Amino acid sequence: MSQTVPGALGAFDAQDTPSMDGLRACVHCGICLPQCPTYRVLGEEMDSPRGRVYLMRAAAEDRIGLTPTMARHLDLCLGCRACETACPSGVPFGQLLEATRGQLERHGVVPPQRDSATLRFLLDVFPYPNRLGPMLHGLRLYQWSGMQAMVRGLGLLAPFAKLRAMEALLPPVPASAAPLPTLVPARGARARGRAGVLLGCAQRFFYPDVNADTVRLLVYRPIEHPDQFFIPFRDSSNGDETYEGGRYVHLDSLDTHKFILDFNNSYNPYCAYDSTWICPLPPPGNTLPFAVRAGMLAPKEH
Ligand code: SF4
Ligand code: SF4
Repeated sequence: MSQTVPGALGAFDAQDTPSMDGLRACVHCGICLPQCPTYRVLGEEMDSPRGRVYLMRAAAEDRIGLTPTMARHLDLCLGCRACETACPSGVPFGQLLEATRGQLERHGVVPPQRDSATLRFLLDVFPYPNRLGPMLHGLRLYQWSGMQAMVRGLGLLAPFAKLRAMEALLPPVPASAAPLPTLVPARGARARGRAGVLLGCAQRFFYPDVNADTVRLLVYRPIEHPDQFFIPFRDSSNGDETYEGGRYVHLDSLDTHKFILDFNNSYNPYCAYDSTWICPLPPPGNTLPFAVRAGMLAPKEH
């Protein structure tokens, strides 16, 4: 006789269960499909956001168990969340994916033919710039010396399917960029405050121009309120009365330990109206179980 464990949801256990409301929010409209890189490459419904939500919901409703096949479709997801910003129904895909992957991991369900050695190698190298950098020196030499053209022309990697696939995906490795200065003075009369730039573990090697351009622009950007921070959040009015991507509320510091959180002053992120502001998605933990009826920030011109 099966027993219902409190908090469990179908095939999912009670620890960090995917949200049933989030799963039910999918109306199968398919607007997310063109945004999904795995669907565009593989053309398989179960490798689309809609298909993955369908699988997770089937598990939540106990219509399927946590199977290696399900793990395979979720394993192929890049977690890029391009589907989340495209979705008109506000399906919290990132939260659903992370919770389901945790469940699969905890239950020891792994995709068939998972290449654990390659995964381990990638995880041991790519997040560490002091390992990735030296490896790229070798790859740069391989490309620039003409060896790559020769290997491809003669089909030398044909007997090694996996290595050949990885080699085929290798982008042109750019020349090593000069390191960015530790401190770049701000420019302009209104400049104040200090901004930091995260160089990224792979971006600093593959797209060094992006970091250099970011620094170039930041030195001209005045930071109007260096003592103010904001919290992105969602509430039950999202997508109904307010912007569905969540809103922000400022934290005004009284002293170093206290903050005032006034939801009456919450506002829609500017990025919807003004491209000079970034718009981070609120993390799932920042969801309020009630509606906050508030308007938009109306900054005063000085
Ligand atoms: S856009 Fe959203 S609601 Fe539509 S199919 Fe994709 S996940 Fe479901
Ligand atoms: S997170 Fe990215 S790869 Fe995964 S389903 Fe969404 S768009 Fe596709």
